[in-house]
Amino acid sequence: MKLTDRVNVIKGVGEKTTALFAKLHIETIKDFITWYPRNYLSYDEPKNIGEAAVGERVAVLGRIHSRIEIKKVRSLTLVSCTIKDYTGSMKLVWYNCPFLKQVFHVGGTFVFVGTISVRNNQKQIEHPEYYAMSNYVELQSSLQSIYPLTEGLSNKTLIKCMYAVKPLMEELTEYLPLDLDKQYHLMPYQEAVKEIHFPKDYEMLLKARNRLVFDEFFIFLTAMHRIKQKTMQAKNQYQIPMCDEVECLKESLPFSLTDGQLKAIDDIANDFMKDTIMNRLVQGDVGSGKTIVAVIALLMSVKANYQGAMMVPTEILALQHYESILKILEPFGINIALLIGSTPLKEKRKIYEALADGTLDIVVGTHAVIQEKVNFLKLALVITDEQHRFGVLQRENLSRKGSEPHVLVMSATPIPRTLAIIMYGDLDISMIRELPKERLPIKNCVVGTAYRPTAYRFMEAEIKKGHQVYVICPMVEESENTKAENVVVYADTLKEAFHQTIRIQYLHGKMKSDEKTQIMERFQKGDIDILVSTTVVEVGINNPNATVMMIENAEKFGLAQLHQLRGRVGRGEAQSYCIMVYTSDKQEVKERLEILNQSNDGFFIANEDLKLRGPGDFFGIRQSGELLFRLGDIYQNAEILKMANDAVLHLQNIEYPLENIKHPGLEKNMNALSL
Ligand code: ADP
Ligand code: MG
Repeated sequence: MKLTDRVNVIKGVGEKTTALFAKLHIETIKDFITWYPRNYLSYDEPKNIGEAAVGERVAVLGRIHSRIEIKKVRSLTLVSCTIKDYTGSMKLVWYNCPFLKQVFHVGGTFVFVGTISVRNNQKQIEHPEYYAMSNYVELQSSLQSIYPLTEGLSNKTLIKCMYAVKPLMEELTEYLPLDLDKQYHLMPYQEAVKEIHFPKDYEMLLKARNRLVFDEFFIFLTAMHRIKQKTMQAKNQYQIPMCDEVECLKESLPFSLTDGQLKAIDDIANDFMKDTIMNRLVQGDVGSGKTIVAVIALLMSVKANYQGAMMVPTEILALQHYESILKILEPFGINIALLIGSTPLKEKRKIYEALADGTLDIVVGTHAVIQEKVNFLKLALVITDEQHRFGVLQRENLSRKGSEPHVLVMSATPIPRTLAIIMYGDLDISMIRELPKERLPIKNCVVGTAYRPTAYRFMEAEIKKGHQVYVICPMVEESENTKAENVVVYADTLKEAFHQTIRIQYLHGKMKSDEKTQIMERFQKGDIDILVSTTVVEVGINNPNATVMMIENAEKFGLAQLHQLRGRVGRGEAQSYCIMVYTSDKQEVKERLEILNQSNDGFFIANEDLKLRGPGDFFGIRQSGELLFRLGDIYQNAEILKMANDAVLHLQNIEYPLENIKHPGLEKNMNALSL
């Protein structure tokens, strides 16, 4: 076996498993060994059933007390039984594992491991792992890796395969140039890879992880500096002057722009006239009104006889931006098109043509915009919204479309200035610090599940006032399918709880894209009262008429993500509310959510979250959004980020060619960067 071999050479990996690996973009053994665990399990002393707290992951030693029951519900086969010890009893449930009927018998004693929940006033564990006592004792002294999975691929299989390729890890050599690893006291690369998969203990694991986080940052920053070297020198071939139409547009708006918005527009107008091209980040908290800034930049470009492109991470968001841009810019005689994956082919061809011959002024879309077939006649401005979903390289791709257009990036990621300078080192920054004046701050509450009926009544009252509601559903990590199921089931539950005149619709990521956009359109138009959704609405959606956001299982989300979700309300003049429902009794959970309860300020939240989690807590909930890194978290690992930045600057200072850096996962990382 060699590192460059395909995964099918691993013993026990057949066609089926190879296909599953391919789904995770794991093709070669080299890819596979950079597939790092997302978490680790340690096995604690079993607890008494009576002492196991709800929401906690525990091991309990129990005797099977009831007959093993098998039931069919929808497409699921449920296997359940009750276990007991001298302190209490609890129910165990498994899905689609009918064979367990042969494993368990009344009187059998096992250690069951899983997270305690409550159903019908009874404690239960869904899908517990089970062990004979003797096997469990062995496990107790180890840390077990938990890998990110895909449906059909089990953690057990991954662990087995990882053991099989372990000897090959000996071949990994240090790739950092000039003993940088020693200079920064980093664990050697090879050792770090071994430790991350097979940790000896927490201390070694932490060191290994820090080393690999360093790698991720280092490679990201290397890529960014390469780009910067190119773009810094790029000449501005598109002088775009301020135009009268901007004043008209400002006057046509139902509001006046905030100081931050005006300053950002000013910065852009200045950049447009400089000798070098613009590379600017507009950063502002959710709801600060970044879109209008982008629209004005587009208007200026088109009035100077150029084309503009706007790229966003989701189709739903693309559609929304398209519609609002159309409404604002059409009166100025500007041609605008929407280009997304689901645009019919015939339509797409027309758009390609019109972009190439210059009859189309502006295109709004997802990554479809940067596909090879798209060519512009005179592209001068490229805007990416919610940049944290896009990689640097993707941005570069889009720049290549024209000959070096101006680049404007919009982001709501609340990132302190010191980190922003590193993360967006290739960009100048405009910050919009304030929200529009007439906005009322969102009122928050953090509550237990007992509050649900009250929340429903409150929602009903808001709907009676003509407002709309989002309900974000329990997020289940294990499988995408269960996630979808949750939304559907929850929508059914709500239909029972509400009067039938109230229009309830669910939405999740697995739905067909035109179905999703249709639902969003109905919601925007006010034809849906309650939208029960997964986090697909998290990024950028704007419906100022929505005034209530209820988030179930709020503890499962990172604070930054909750803040983004909450940002979907409070976008109009009416008072808005955010109800965060938690299902865990743990004190930390309440403390964490309390931060959101106290503040609507993204910067404050990111900082407090960091303090609460502390640098050692690397298994905490990841900041979603920062998808660039598999292990690293720019907030938690801010120190390492600075270190990696130092290293790159150091190499530049001594004129070390960054092209010479060879990392086994570099290509993979580059791809991930341009996700
Ligand atoms: P974000 O910064 O989160 O992208 P948007 O650009 O979507 O925010 O703006 C949110 C809402 O605020 C929109 O409905 C927009 O029309 C409105 N808005 C933007 N600027 C102002 C302003 N200066 N005063 C009042 N409302 C504004
Ligand atoms: Mg936005």
